[in-house]
Amino acid sequence: MKGNAKIRSRLQPRRGRKRRPPLPPLAEKEAWVKRSLDHRLNSPRLRKEIQTWWEGRLQGRWLHYQRGLRGKATSPAQKGDLVWGRWDLHEGLKKPESSAAVQLRTEKIGFSHFLFTRKVPEVQNSSCPCGAARQTSKHVLLFCPAYQAGRSQMVLEAGSSDYDTMLSSRPGIRAAAKWLIKSGALHQFSLAKEMLEEQ
Ligand SMILES: [Zn+2]
Repeated sequence: MKGNAKIRSRLQPRRGRKRRPPLPPLAEKEAWVKRSLDHRLNSPRLRKEIQTWWEGRLQGRWLHYQRGLRGKATSPAQKGDLVWGRWDLHEGLKKPESSAAVQLRTEKIGFSHFLFTRKVPEVQNSSCPCGAARQTSKHVLLFCPAYQAGRSQMVLEAGSSDYDTMLSSRPGIRAAAKWLIKSGALHQFSLAKEMLEEQ
């Protein structure tokens, strides 16, 4: 009898485990799915995969951009490093400032020279209202007499008055982007300027 009881007690838990557990209610099932998804998203391997995929996408876009140059690099962005190597330039910038920084670095910007070469109908020529033959971002940023205000302070903050150097360093791009918004030289930034002044 003693032996039988021993065997029964050994079998019982196993019998218990074999029994199929009742199906969980729907809410519990959903929670379980969510937990396992969260777990997957937190896995370093998946994060690495996502990062690699994202960098590959950026590299593809960058190569496409560079191919469009036909071997002629002109803007600071084209002369500079690969785009994801320069995310540091945007650190701490507000959204309109970051947008201004991109436009300055790529020179795809709302000034006559770029707009005229892109055949924007309202733009009749490349010239600047100040009389200069070409209204480029370099001209507006460093030379245009119409936007003198705050320029020397901007150059001081930028740490350089050399256009390419300025737009390739973090203090430089910060100072240039902030100044560009404040200057009102780009119509599209007038709203951003008001927003920044309100803060
Ligand atoms: Zn000008």
